[in-house]
Amino acid sequence: MGVDYSEIGLMVGLECHQQLATRCKLFCGCKPQLFKGEPKVTFLRRLRPTQSELGQVDPAAYFEFQKGVRILYEADGETSCLVEMDEEPPHELNREALETTLIVALMMKAKPVDEIHVMRKTVIDGSNTTGFQRTCVVALNGEIDVDGKTVPIQHISLEEDAARKIGEDGYTVRYRIDRLGIPLIEVTTGPVIHSPKEAEAVALAIGRILRATGRVKRGLGTIRQDLNISIRDGALIEIKGVQELELISKVVEYEVQRQLGLLKVRDELRRRGVVEEDLKEEFMDVTEVFEQTGCRVLRRAIKDGKRIFAVKLRGFSGLLSMEIAPGMRLGREMADRARFWGRVKGIFHTDELPAYGITRDEVEKLKRLMGASPDDAVVLVADTIENSTDALRAVVERAREALRGVPEETRAANPDGTTRYMRPRPGAARMYPETDVPPVPITDDYLRELSSRLPKLPDEVVKHLTECYGINVKLAEQLLDSEYLNLFERIAGRVKVSPTVIAATLTETVKALKREGVEVNKVTDEQLMRLFEMVDSGKTAKESIPEVITWLSKHEGEDVESAIRSLGLTMLSRDEIEAVIDDVVEENRDFVMERGMGAFGRLMGIVMKKVRGRAEAKVVSEIIRERISRVKGEDAAM
Ligand SMILES: [Zn+2]
Repeated sequence: MGVDYSEIGLMVGLECHQQLATRCKLFCGCKPQLFKGEPKVTFLRRLRPTQSELGQVDPAAYFEFQKGVRILYEADGETSCLVEMDEEPPHELNREALETTLIVALMMKAKPVDEIHVMRKTVIDGSNTTGFQRTCVVALNGEIDVDGKTVPIQHISLEEDAARKIGEDGYTVRYRIDRLGIPLIEVTTGPVIHSPKEAEAVALAIGRILRATGRVKRGLGTIRQDLNISIRDGALIEIKGVQELELISKVVEYEVQRQLGLLKVRDELRRRGVVEEDLKEEFMDVTEVFEQTGCRVLRRAIKDGKRIFAVKLRGFSGLLSMEIAPGMRLGREMADRARFWGRVKGIFHTDELPAYGITRDEVEKLKRLMGASPDDAVVLVADTIENSTDALRAVVERAREALRGVPEETRAANPDGTTRYMRPRPGAARMYPETDVPPVPITDDYLRELSSRLPKLPDEVVKHLTECYGINVKLAEQLLDSEYLNLFERIAGRVKVSPTVIAATLTETVKALKREGVEVNKVTDEQLMRLFEMVDSGKTAKESIPEVITWLSKHEGEDVESAIRSLGLTMLSRDEIEAVIDDVVEENRDFVMERGMGAFGRLMGIVMKKVRGRAEAKVVSEIIRERISRVKGEDAAM
């Protein structure tokens, strides 16, 4: 797709959220970690619609409250305490986290505020037990250089991470509060990004500065990007939770396509002469059409005492199933809305029927009953009257918005780069002071002291790596972007293995293993260090590294020695290598006699297959050459 991004007025702003690697959480002494397994404590809360100071109630929050949505929070004893449960006031602001944030601010040339004031930002989805998120602006008006362009950093804040949603079951939403309170730095750029690739480059540059501090958490889920995307005539769309850097340009690309697609839908609806008054909230009970249906979902609903309701969308035929962006359709957006506002499982619409066991005959009957012409679409939902009404009302609302173009909304990123409706965009910032946490003054002396010991900037780190270790720029950059920069320096400082081999292992090999599904993160830094020590001392070959890492990932708690022993990767002695080679030479004696040194390649291949990971190629080749000369010598002597 040849989209001219400047032509369509694309503007993107980034909000980068990165967890900090502190000893404890932002407002209590709990470990900033996630727990696995079953929770030790659970507690149930109802969602309360909190009013802002202006007395406004967020409609989505009020709606969920009305629906009786409950939150089941899960916890264990180590990763949360009474603070996360909102049973005890927050403690003082974590100074370690504040210092890291100030360091980042100074590296991004931002101006720190004189005094840190913790604020409460209303949060309406239950991800905070308090109903708000604590956040504080630490610095303003910074800038970073991205490929020669100056990108303004609007503000750098420190905030508490939210609880993580782990499931939803009807009216009960489950959250784990282990993540709640983990310090999170937020870096917000101006909306100066004008292409998908540029968005990715800016995110990479910010991520590199954050990692260059050596004080941030690593691994999936520890860095999350929110994107604010708009095009001319479109709308400002906030997309939350992009976890992988490689996904950013795709998300922007797809969002542009989605907005352009919705504009096409709008134009088509106008061409068809559809107006808002055509879209009525007239819902009809159409259960009778499906009394004998072969559709399992509908049959089940009827059996459970639910009814089937339908609404006609005048002039929408063909537009619900039209793909507006890869994997994204208006019908799907309606389904998302219906699920959110009606808590229904999903919808059916005539663009996709007959299907799912619904017959052509049933569709005909339905259309007749609804008085639908071939130009019209009909949307169905099977649930209680209350949920169905809410769901279809949301569908009609979404249809009306389609007449206007792109509705403003908050969307969530899917792992494939597509997005889904999350909730309406909240109104203006709803912030008020957190009176339980005293303000923290930032003195000039403190800033001077921090300035004097700022970490190297990413460019300087790359320069340092190439100069000190003789690795190339590509590897140095990969190290910077990996989780292993610090470990690389530790290993390279201790063993005599080539730094290029260490760097390539910690970047390319690790990446390749992850792609194969190996859980490399289960292998500890100490194990990797030990592995290189074993290679250094000749106890195993560098060729065996991937196998050992794979084995260790599957045998948590076992040591490198056991891995090498179990895999049979202990280095062969020279005698043992010679014995293997002698056998191979003997088996291929005729070939060797015929070809002489010309037989080397084949022999080398056979031997290396037998001793891979247990002998250095250099030694093997030496011995083979020597044996070939000897055989030829004997031959000549005969
Ligand atoms: Zn705690």
